Amino acid sequence: MEPLRVHITAYGCQMNRLDAELADDLLRAAGAEIVDDPAEANVLVFLTCSVRAHAENRAFSNIGALAERKTREPDLVVGLVGCTAQQYGPEVWQRAPLVDFICAPGRLADLSDLVREARAGRRSVALDPGRGKEEREAFGESDARIDAVEVRGRRRVGRSRQAFVRAMRGCDMFCSYCVVPNVRGPERSRSPAAVAEEVQRLVDRGVREVTLLGQAVNRYRFEEAGRAWDLADLLEKVAGTPGLRRLRFITSHPKAMTARLASVFRDVPLLCPHLHMPAQSGSDAVLERMNRGYTAAEYAERVAMVREAAPQVAVASDFIVGFPGETREDFEATADLARRMRFASGFVFKYSPRPGTLAAQKYPDDVPQKEKERRHRQLLDLISEIASEENQAFVGRRVEVLVEGLAPRPHLDGGPERGMQKGWKQWRGRTPCHRLVVFDGPPFGGAPFGSEPQGRRQGRPDLAGELVTVRIDRAGPITLFATLLENGS
Ligand code: SAM
Ligand code: SF4
Repeated sequence: MEPLRVHITAYGCQMNRLDAELADDLLRAAGAEIVDDPAEANVLVFLTCSVRAHAENRAFSNIGALAERKTREPDLVVGLVGCTAQQYGPEVWQRAPLVDFICAPGRLADLSDLVREARAGRRSVALDPGRGKEEREAFGESDARIDAVEVRGRRRVGRSRQAFVRAMRGCDMFCSYCVVPNVRGPERSRSPAAVAEEVQRLVDRGVREVTLLGQAVNRYRFEEAGRAWDLADLLEKVAGTPGLRRLRFITSHPKAMTARLASVFRDVPLLCPHLHMPAQSGSDAVLERMNRGYTAAEYAERVAMVREAAPQVAVASDFIVGFPGETREDFEATADLARRMRFASGFVFKYSPRPGTLAAQKYPDDVPQKEKERRHRQLLDLISEIASEENQAFVGRRVEVLVEGLAPRPHLDGGPERGMQKGWKQWRGRTPCHRLVVFDGPPFGGAPFGSEPQGRRQGRPDLAGELVTVRIDRAGPITLFATLLENGS
């Protein structure tokens, strides 16, 4: 049989990006070569997202487009992995008959078995248990298998030396619009020892920045030897990892934000001052229908509590516009909350009814598409305007940046007319508060952002993964433009 050559496509959130890295690790351990070009692969793995119809449709349409190739290459294996796999199970075959295997997010450890079966001409499905009574126990075995891969695997460390580490799986919040509790199962927190060991192993292999992941990560709870750990305890433990330079966590639920967690921003210097805590709406009536469990005033109190403990924290939010029954006044209340909170950044999504959710069953999707688009634009513009004003405070400041790689395309104010040194390139990176910074710096071998290190190999300076100091010269709504002062490490 031909050697395995696998291409992985991931859609959606950070959890999926992490799952893609684990899939890469698992399949390499099974002898596969991971290829960048899907045309060179004999196995195509799609890590799908079901949060909005758009992401789901994109995956199905990309899979559908393979029909002709599959006729030409009958041995080509196509796997559908992740949230969409769990959402539809074998019904996937009605929509995408050319798929060879279907694998739920919690069954990632079975990936190489599924590929082997498919190559032997057998279709297979690996799903998670449902959300029945003994759900937590039922997930135990598959969690333990993937935990072993997470902790002791050899997943690739990217050039930016950043890594995601799972603190929790699943979600119990049941926001009325959201598929995640159905497709990623009940909340399960990982043991502090497993998280800490994984972080230490990653740091030993060159990682400098770790982001702890969970859908409502501030609900982290782990009981062990009579001690109950919360996220604040976990952050303090992980921050003690020798060699770790930066620590983050996402995503926080406003209902679970505590004064103790806010104090960690003040007391743990390694913890980056960035809090992603989605408000979703500023209207109490909409928040109630969303089943978010707080009012706009309570949300504002939580933000004030964090800012009182640590004023430097940049707060970021997600919003859904056009939720069923959202009136013009409801939308104005959301805009008003955004104005008062002065978010550093925000994602705005148009409501998308999802099968199996309470909102899709109970509330008609009654805000016209055109109006959703108008509100989407209006809120994005408002968030940008506020972020741009907030960003002006950075002009003239020296900040530390973890360099992620070369900027994918030149920015408007780059180039020799700005006094850029001959042959220099534009680099991009992040401040501790997660703002994007672009600056000019020495060139290297030339691979674009996101690709493998070439600079080091060629003996020329590669700034990716370095912590550098820059001075901010100019600020836009998303990007801070800077001058490189020193390469600190
Ligand atoms: N657990 C995280 C949270 O609570 O924020 C992330 C959940 S989800 C993957 C990311 C964002 O997608 C949510 O914050 C929400 O704004 C948005 N979202 C989820 N379901 C949606 C839907 N049905 N329609 C539109 N946006 C949705
Ligand atoms: Fe979905 Fe709400 Fe859970 Fe986030 S907290 S994953 S929005 S149910």
